Amino acid sequence: MSSPQLPATQSPQPSALLGLAPEQLIAWVQAQGQSAYRGKQLHQWIYQQGARSLGDVTVFPKAFRQTHIDTPIGRSDIYRRSVAPDGTVKFLLQLADRQIIEAVGIPAGKRLTVCVSSQVGCPMACDFCATGKGGFIRNLAVHEIVDQVLTVQEDFQQRVSNVVFMGMGEPLLNADSAVAAIQSINRDVGIGQRSITLSTVGIPGRIRRLADHDLQITLAVSLHASNQALRQRLIPSADHYPLAALLEECRDYVNQTRRRVTFEYILLAGLNDQTVHAEELAQHLRGFQSHVNLIPYNPIAEVDYQRPTRQQVESFAQNLRDRHIAVSTRYSRGLEKDAACGQLRASLPAG
Ligand code: SAH
Repeated sequence: MSSPQLPATQSPQPSALLGLAPEQLIAWVQAQGQSAYRGKQLHQWIYQQGARSLGDVTVFPKAFRQTHIDTPIGRSDIYRRSVAPDGTVKFLLQLADRQIIEAVGIPAGKRLTVCVSSQVGCPMACDFCATGKGGFIRNLAVHEIVDQVLTVQEDFQQRVSNVVFMGMGEPLLNADSAVAAIQSINRDVGIGQRSITLSTVGIPGRIRRLADHDLQITLAVSLHASNQALRQRLIPSADHYPLAALLEECRDYVNQTRRRVTFEYILLAGLNDQTVHAEELAQHLRGFQSHVNLIPYNPIAEVDYQRPTRQQVESFAQNLRDRHIAVSTRYSRGLEKDAACGQLRASLPAG
């Protein structure tokens, strides 16, 4: 007895085509009764022509386009776009369920960096960060992350050179989607893994698990404090994650991936920017294949931390250099449009 032929419509319907591997796209078009080469065409139309619906794919037969007009490709809508004087563009993107996230395009000569969100809101509640003040709503799906890169690329009409997971959310709380999105951004959008950075505040066990994916991305860890007590004050989740354990996981990451780790360190005037803090930090990082990225605090409305003076920032950096720590300073871009690190929110601005 031969088994009945399954009608094409019974093949599993993906929630979105964006983010699928080329072979999955091919399998999908084949399940719809089309030849494999249509899968390759679809890939090209999604990633290079910016197709937002199957109706846009004009190389496809008309009947097929009409039948699948509602099959979601998975692109979000630009809800609002604002340009800061330094050319940084902040996008408020509306997802299929009407939630709003932010993505930022940061041009610098030939480079174009996209700062992507990994969650709607964030549950980590770091005291200095605007995203955490609004609470957590949900994880982003793979296509909702990849879309942010395509949206910025299309808007700037320039190839994206770098992607940083430094927007809203904690990517290691949404690690499966973040990793799948990284793979798609690399494979489908064509951005080298070494040009992709994932920033995390650190979730116990997750950095080690990330290492198992054998990615060549840069891991950035939001340290922000030179000792456990101070870190707990700034980052509530640090209560359950001793600094020593976090650093140990980072060491394992370096040993396994052979990639050096970046430690992000927000500078808050009077709080963590003194010589004693530089000394403590240098002690933790001695002999560690790493790099410290200082981020002078970007003001948010809810708290009254202060950004240190340029002179204080420079002296902190010099203090670290004197102790043989590799250091750079990142004055965030897009400050005027609340598009800088820590200023992104899920809520819409007033007005
Ligand atoms: N959840 C990830 C990504 C967050 S945003 C993480 O914690 O790493 C990327 C960076 O911006 C993090 O280092 C974050 O701590 C930092 N940041 C948050 N609020 C900030 C602020 N007000 N000023 C400067 N940097 C901030």
